[in-house]
Amino acid sequence: MTQRVVIGAGVVGLATALALQRPGVTVTLIDRLAPGSGTSSGNAGIIAAGSVHPESMPGLLANLPSMLLNPQGPLRLRPSFLLKQLPWLVRFLAQARPVRVEAASVAISALSKPALRYWDGLLQQVGLPSPFTRKGLLYAFGSHRGFTAALRHNVYRTRRGIPFEILDGPAARALEPALAPSLAGAIYAPEAAHHPWPQTLSDQLFERFRARGGHFVRGSVAALAREGRQVRVNGLGAQPLADQLFLCAGAYSATLAKQLGWAVPLASERGYHILHPDPGLRLTRTVLFPELGFAATPMAEGLRLAGTVELASLEAPPAWGRAKVLSHNARKMLPALKGPGVRPWLGFRPSLPDSLPVLGAAPDAPQGIFFAFGHGHLGLTQAAVSAACLAALAEGETPPLELASYRINRPFPLL
Ligand SMILES: Cc1cc2nc3c(=O)[nH]c(=O)nc-3n(C[C@H](O)[C@H](O)[C@H](O)COP(=O)(O)OP(=O)(O)OC[C@H]3O[C@@H](n4cnc5c(N)ncnc54)[C@H](O)[C@@H]3O)c2cc1C
Repeated sequence: MTQRVVIGAGVVGLATALALQRPGVTVTLIDRLAPGSGTSSGNAGIIAAGSVHPESMPGLLANLPSMLLNPQGPLRLRPSFLLKQLPWLVRFLAQARPVRVEAASVAISALSKPALRYWDGLLQQVGLPSPFTRKGLLYAFGSHRGFTAALRHNVYRTRRGIPFEILDGPAARALEPALAPSLAGAIYAPEAAHHPWPQTLSDQLFERFRARGGHFVRGSVAALAREGRQVRVNGLGAQPLADQLFLCAGAYSATLAKQLGWAVPLASERGYHILHPDPGLRLTRTVLFPELGFAATPMAEGLRLAGTVELASLEAPPAWGRAKVLSHNARKMLPALKGPGVRPWLGFRPSLPDSLPVLGAAPDAPQGIFFAFGHGHLGLTQAAVSAACLAALAEGETPPLELASYRINRPFPLL
């Protein structure tokens, strides 16, 4: 029996573990947490088929000082990050060159545009109905300046063949009447969708994985060591020997990748959410407020406000004020929003400077070691398509996408 071991039971690891199951193969999934309960549980739930440009964009450097000086703003940089991750930040800023943005946009789109089709395929294959609300995504802008700037980014949607509509304030409010009358305008992406409670998706994937004979080990992987063509997984009671190892440990993947011989500039773009169980308003679809850096998603347990970026180390203590400020900012765009938010939450987006994941086989072990981590802002979106790629590679088949852009040894220039 071929032993396949997947490290990390976030949404990427869960989708991968399911896609890997075959007769004659044992799949073991390892996580120190309950499946799906880390970063994958608290996101905004968006299948962002139309978000096709990277995070680092031209103009970012000029806006950085004012963004960083505002502690309640959408982007915050904590000193712990500067101390440990300055090279990441320099590489991130270097990615804003137009030619690199274009290349990243092509590669993001290849994973995100077909995302719903891959999710539907995976879920259907394991007997689950599609759980997504298919009402598109509205990018809403409070200021004319922000709206005009965002319209320039539509060039990437046009080039990638992503449908969108430009709406003035009244047209956007006709779609979502809870939006403020002062709204400057919006961009509507009809092919996006959202999941009404991402933890449920992980729970269902895990239940199917177990029902189809998958093994789950709860524990923390301390170290990975190559033994010939196999990889020993250390730190657990049993020390499984993997014929094929799949590293899907989200923001924690860099240390383990290093033990396998691969250094990768992975940082954590931390994000927060807060829940309004009884929001006093109704949204039909996710509304994203790019100027404020967060999304409002109508979910099973209320309205979830999720987003912002905090560049800080994984170990830095949470800044819960950032979660609470989401409610304050949301009232600017959703004036009827009721109540204090509850259950503030912090998650860790696993991010590379070019906003692309590491996806594919290790160049020096093409049949034995595989990577799927670093999906940044788009892990929920891209999990099923990533899983399909790794499953094909593991079988020695051609993956459905060309994976060169996501290779672990791609260059990250400093200039
Ligand atoms: C505020 C916020 C909003 C977001 N909104 C969206 C959105 O709307 N749409 C979207 O597509 N994406 C969104 N994202 C991004 C998305 O949530 C992530 O990209 C995704 O969850 C990453 O999934 P993952 O499986 O790679 O990582 P994780 O969910 O972090 O899973 C990794 C797992 O590996 C385990 N692990 C790590 N190291 C070890 C070890 N040594 N031993 C054992 N286990 C280990 C961890 O415990 C964890 O469970 C958002 C993120 C945030 C923070």
